[in-house]
Amino acid sequence: MTNRTETFTDSKHFRLNQVAEGVYAAISVPGTGSVGNAAIIDLGDSTLVVDTFTTIEAAEDLQAAAIELTGKPVSYVINTHWHSDHTSGNQVFIPGAQIISTSITREIMATFGKDRLARHLADPEPIYRAMDELDEKIQQETDEKLKREMQWENASDSEYMNMLPNLVYTLPTITFDGQMTIHGSSRTVQLITYGGGHTQSDAFLYLPEEKIAVMGDLVLSKHHPVMMYANPNAWLNILERVEALGVETIIPGHGEVCSMKELHEVKGYINDIVALVAEAVHSKKSIDDLVVPQAYQDWYFTTYFKSNLKRVYDWITESPGSTPFNREKE
Ligand SMILES: [Zn+2]
Repeated sequence: MTNRTETFTDSKHFRLNQVAEGVYAAISVPGTGSVGNAAIIDLGDSTLVVDTFTTIEAAEDLQAAAIELTGKPVSYVINTHWHSDHTSGNQVFIPGAQIISTSITREIMATFGKDRLARHLADPEPIYRAMDELDEKIQQETDEKLKREMQWENASDSEYMNMLPNLVYTLPTITFDGQMTIHGSSRTVQLITYGGGHTQSDAFLYLPEEKIAVMGDLVLSKHHPVMMYANPNAWLNILERVEALGVETIIPGHGEVCSMKELHEVKGYINDIVALVAEAVHSKKSIDDLVVPQAYQDWYFTTYFKSNLKRVYDWITESPGSTPFNREKE
């Protein structure tokens, strides 16, 4: 088997990792225009891409890599969920590709996602202010890991803001609910949704022959899962259903290619966060005093720990199951 990743001139936005013949993970380089991971899958007579990064430039590199690796243009793009680091590059692939998501994901993009982008364009000042504030924090931060993570965050936000005037918000063209199968000439892929957990609707891709799953942000490797829009119970239920599929290799939404071990770690993390907040509520302590547990101190996305606590606190104390669009920028 020739490793064709060696022939692709590297992108500054991602590293390619060949997971199987014709299956490639595009792993985000921190602080660039990718932010999330993507995947490239050769179906034989067509090529499929999963998720499209944060910026147009990163998505253009992804498209170039897909053409280089498979020798074909991209026919299918999957959006695992609506978050901008998985959908902002969509425009690069049309016309030519069909963009596929769940019907709920498309609905959120067509309403909230589009409105939010219009707000960012009409009034970018709050985002620039937040970046300036983060810059000040970076100057004062003494923890090297945290400092590096905040620098990455600001560098990626800066790439996003620079791109914004050229962004054409591009919606999925095909939607599904439950399951959809794409039959290529050399492999079959299943698109599956078990509802929403990380967001209001999360889909993932499963290659039953190869036992590879491209999980979007339902599974992150050594990164704090992002619970900003999460329903913790629903998320855990989804992961339990994934356990029944026989997955062996996972391309996660953030972090390196991994296995079911990391899926189990995400379950542990969600359970731990819920337990920490429940205990704080029970003993009338402030969640602001909670610190990152030892087990997760070397994980990235540290800044999400506090917002995860807040989200779970609201979820426990207010209306479990509600899914507010409560943050301007993620
Ligand atoms: Zn996400």
